[in-house]
Amino acid sequence: MSSLTIECSKCGARHTLEVPQSVNAAADPELKERVRSGALFTWSCPHCGTLNLLNFPFLYHDPSEHLMIVLSETPLGAEGVPEGYTGRQVRTPGDLIEKVKIFDAGLNDLLVEMCKFVTCQELKKEVPMRFVRLDGADGEMTFTYPEGGEMQLVAVGFNVYEDCAGILRRNPHIRESVTGLATIDQAWLSQFFR
Ligand SMILES: [Zn+2]
Repeated sequence: MSSLTIECSKCGARHTLEVPQSVNAAADPELKERVRSGALFTWSCPHCGTLNLLNFPFLYHDPSEHLMIVLSETPLGAEGVPEGYTGRQVRTPGDLIEKVKIFDAGLNDLLVEMCKFVTCQELKKEVPMRFVRLDGADGEMTFTYPEGGEMQLVAVGFNVYEDCAGILRRNPHIRESVTGLATIDQAWLSQFFR
């Protein structure tokens, strides 16, 4: 645990919270769920009741999936990623939650970013998309994006994912460029697709 001093965004009251620095998702499913639901990164001010969002450095480790995701606002190197592991760096709790959902669904996050790009092109929108879920029955993916002050949902067929997988197979340099603690997002993808 580490101490985090925070200030309520509404009333300015200051508090010190004890927050975990990491989770072993296989050993502590309860804490994993607090990460996945976002509960770990919210805090209700006891004075005014405002729900505040927290952002603090955090390591998500799932040994059963050979997965390490580091939440950090400062750039990190590849150090500390064991051989054979998937290493990712994210900058916000929202990014971390999305990655956990993607990997929990058994999906490849490179392909999910490609699916978002393709879906934005089809909708003719430039919006930040987030993966929400994979529907087990027919493999339909649900993404969400903000529009007009609301969150819109868009369903994307699994064929889009498979098409992206084909593109990735034909372009091995994309996959090979991903090493260490990689940041895999739309900015990363834009070096390959424009
Ligand atoms: Zn407050």
